[in-house]
Amino acid sequence: MSEDLNKLALKYALINAFQYGGTPNSKAVTGKIMAELPEVRKQAKDVILAVEEAINQISKMSNKDIENKLKEIYPEYFVEKPKEKEAPKVLPPLEGAEIGKVVTRLPPEPNGYPHIGHGMSFYFNYYYAKKYDGKVILRFDDTNPKKEKLEYYDAIKQDLKWLKITWDEECNMSDDMELYYKYALDLIDMGKAYVCNCDAEYVSKLRYESKDCPCVSNSVQDNLSLWKEMETAEEGKYSLRLKGDMASKNTVMRDPTMLRVVDHPHPIQGDKYRIWPVYDFACAIEDSVLGVTHVLRSNEFALRIELQDYIRGLLNLRNPKIIEYSRFTVKGAPTSKRLIRPLIEEHVVSGWDDPRLVTIRGLKRRGITPEAIHMVAEEIGLSKSEPEIDWSLIESLNRKVIDSTSDRYYFVPDPKSLEVIDASYQTIQLKRHPDFDRGFRDVHITDKFYISGNDFVSITKGQILRLKDLFNIIIIDTSTNLIKAMHTDEKTSKDELSKIKKIQWVSDKNVKVSVIVPGILYEGENINPNSLTTINGYGEEGIANLKEGDIVQFERFGFVRVDKIDPSGVTVILTHK
Ligand SMILES: [Zn+2]
Repeated sequence: MSEDLNKLALKYALINAFQYGGTPNSKAVTGKIMAELPEVRKQAKDVILAVEEAINQISKMSNKDIENKLKEIYPEYFVEKPKEKEAPKVLPPLEGAEIGKVVTRLPPEPNGYPHIGHGMSFYFNYYYAKKYDGKVILRFDDTNPKKEKLEYYDAIKQDLKWLKITWDEECNMSDDMELYYKYALDLIDMGKAYVCNCDAEYVSKLRYESKDCPCVSNSVQDNLSLWKEMETAEEGKYSLRLKGDMASKNTVMRDPTMLRVVDHPHPIQGDKYRIWPVYDFACAIEDSVLGVTHVLRSNEFALRIELQDYIRGLLNLRNPKIIEYSRFTVKGAPTSKRLIRPLIEEHVVSGWDDPRLVTIRGLKRRGITPEAIHMVAEEIGLSKSEPEIDWSLIESLNRKVIDSTSDRYYFVPDPKSLEVIDASYQTIQLKRHPDFDRGFRDVHITDKFYISGNDFVSITKGQILRLKDLFNIIIIDTSTNLIKAMHTDEKTSKDELSKIKKIQWVSDKNVKVSVIVPGILYEGENINPNSLTTINGYGEEGIANLKEGDIVQFERFGFVRVDKIDPSGVTVILTHK
């Protein structure tokens, strides 16, 4: 035992001396021993003696001796430990979930294109349905005819497919109008709903004052005949209101409207119906009758849970389990349809797929991948704090996805001419990827090259440079707009080589490339006037053979997604560095 103790004392004393220099700290060394050999805690005196002995021994040693001794008795210390891999974030288990019995829903309203916030909600609901071997229902929440358009149903499905989110069933709320009417009549029969014909302003004033309107005392018979009248009444004249609680602190509970007249054709139902349910009424019913077990949604609906549960309670419908998380925003980017729509209507952005937007289409066009969006969802999780994420998070997750699969190409912004007077015409092969076996690309070389404007202005006569992956040159003339150079084999020892500046180039077999650079749309409250800029340059010839949607890396520039290819050149969007 004491031999073990002495060895251990020497090991930790050496480590302490090696790490911090000087005399080892006896307390720290003692602590390490106790942690490794808990059974010696009872023999504190022996431990202290062993530590003193070790420190004494070390005090006579030089730093080099300390290192050598440590290497001798504990060589493992010098073996580089592999960095601990950061465990990928995993979403927590779902409360009350049973394998095979989980039913979730994706509830888009077809009134616009989904954005990243919808993407998160879709992903969470999809994720848990899959995790528990359950079912996910795509349900269009389409009971607001004035806002909804046919084009959005399809667009949303396309975006879901692109997001790699699948569903097992599909339905529209608007297909269940007769069901809503049946439940509305049930509420009237129970005396739990009444038809109100007060004007809207008066109703909201009474709500504010927690006072009933006279219609609350209509008899069931009155309400049934008024309900009949509603079918042909003009918009705004009548509404069916729930008898809630006018004194409730939750204003949503103060006799809210359940159904009202909307005089507007519906994108699917046309003119078939005029009385439309509000979202809370239709949603309360659908979540139950569709057998939804779990609803994952952002907490902007928090006040409505009480109302929806109350409606279900009256109608004897089962409550799903509701799991709320905070709405999240992306810094500098509008993250709601309410904010995005006016930007499109006022032509501040070019459309729903503008690469500055965090719409699913905008993200796609910029080169953000569905996998990265899944990772954002897992990274943020079901957070209760109000997360405002930075673009850099999306970028770093996306980089993990695309780095290994993006071919490399040369691109020079603001190109300037360089002639290498003794260069021979040849075809060289460059690796498509520096670290992965993705094959080679052909590049045709003549004596004419282009380099970036930045490199051009910094070049001096007599300077030796390396054209990246090609050869070394010495600059012989900088007096005109055409820099002249020639080959050189000077200074090519390995050590010297590493000091030579490498510059990016393209040959005169090239293609015009415009890089659209999306920036932050908002600076505080204001639109950033420079949120979209363009960088023009030349890219190597192979870029012309790419297809729209390809994501590649322009070396030393950044990842880009091909947006458009036409005879005049290639337009790409900068995804991120
Ligand atoms: Zn009234």
